[in-house]
Amino acid sequence: MQGPVIKPGSTIGILGGGQLGRMMAMAAAQLGYRCIGYAPAGENVAADVCHDFFENGWGDKPALSAFASKCDVVTWEFENVPLSAVEMIPPQLLHPDPRALEVAQDRLKEKRFVEGLGGTPAPYAPVDSESEFRQAVERIGTPGILKTCREGYDGKGQWRLKSDRDLESVRFPGRSCVYEGYVPFDAEFSVILLRGLDGEIRFWDSPENRHEGGILIKSSVPASDHVAPHVDKARRLARKVAEALNYVGVLTLEFFATADGPVFNEMAPRVHNSGHWTIEGADTSQFENHIRAICGLPLGDCGMAAKHAAMTNLIGEQIFESPSILSDPHCHVHVYGKSEAREGRKMGHVTRLER
Ligand code: AMP
Repeated sequence: MQGPVIKPGSTIGILGGGQLGRMMAMAAAQLGYRCIGYAPAGENVAADVCHDFFENGWGDKPALSAFASKCDVVTWEFENVPLSAVEMIPPQLLHPDPRALEVAQDRLKEKRFVEGLGGTPAPYAPVDSESEFRQAVERIGTPGILKTCREGYDGKGQWRLKSDRDLESVRFPGRSCVYEGYVPFDAEFSVILLRGLDGEIRFWDSPENRHEGGILIKSSVPASDHVAPHVDKARRLARKVAEALNYVGVLTLEFFATADGPVFNEMAPRVHNSGHWTIEGADTSQFENHIRAICGLPLGDCGMAAKHAAMTNLIGEQIFESPSILSDPHCHVHVYGKSEAREGRKMGHVTRLER
């Protein structure tokens, strides 16, 4: 299927106002597009670099219609945009297909969907009550993690059980959850896939990712030898996911590298933190290629532009180190412009290249 080419000079709508939207709008500007953002009132750092920005609620139908009427194509940078808001956008303007959001917004749906395509998630059980929680822990065992099905990110909405003794302190939180067995992994990595309007698929090199407390700390490419043997199989799964969803744009799948092969953790139907290294470290960044894909332009090469690239998040007060980091001439610093350097908040990132 070949869609229409959205020509430079046209307007791209972005649902969500965070740093991903900010970097997407910067890449779009380079190609000659104007971006209009839409997100509820808050610290919308994408607004600094957008031509216009709607600060309205997700339930504000007149505002969503007014936003859509100004756009030639609409995408999102935030996967928890309510489907009811996305449905206000005429479907012919939207990329990717909103079914990707529907699947990715619910951990249980996502796991079942990926399993249906032959992927292997961590052992899991749905949990909708305190007694189901106890049964799930009995069946799957500890260590494990109780995760809310919806709206958890960066370690939020997650409770870790190191041993059965933690059952004394962790309670069912009153919202649909999934209990997952802890996967003993050798490494974590992601597959960052790009699919064009015509169905062409490309991949960037898979970064190896290090998380602490559920937050991504560092992504490095090339990944270590722990990851390399798993990449082909993980890519095959990502390809099936993208094709099943008729996906257009950048799609990310996160995996654990284990002795039994790649174990699927979760997917993000959008550009992803583990792909920030592509801005300087790849021939074409994830942001530029997402814009190229949704506008029907030829896709850029995803090959590496350096021998090695390492992206480190600047979290909370680490952002204050950004000027001194620049004394290393191989470092590229990105500051997202958020006003409050709260603990655990992603404030910026730095990518160091070795050529
Ligand atoms: P998530 O928000 O589900 O991506 O979890 C964030 C991070 O927590 C992951 O990248 C892992 O480092 C860790 N984690 C989450 N689930 C599991 C699991 N089932 N087994 C081992 N580590 C996990």
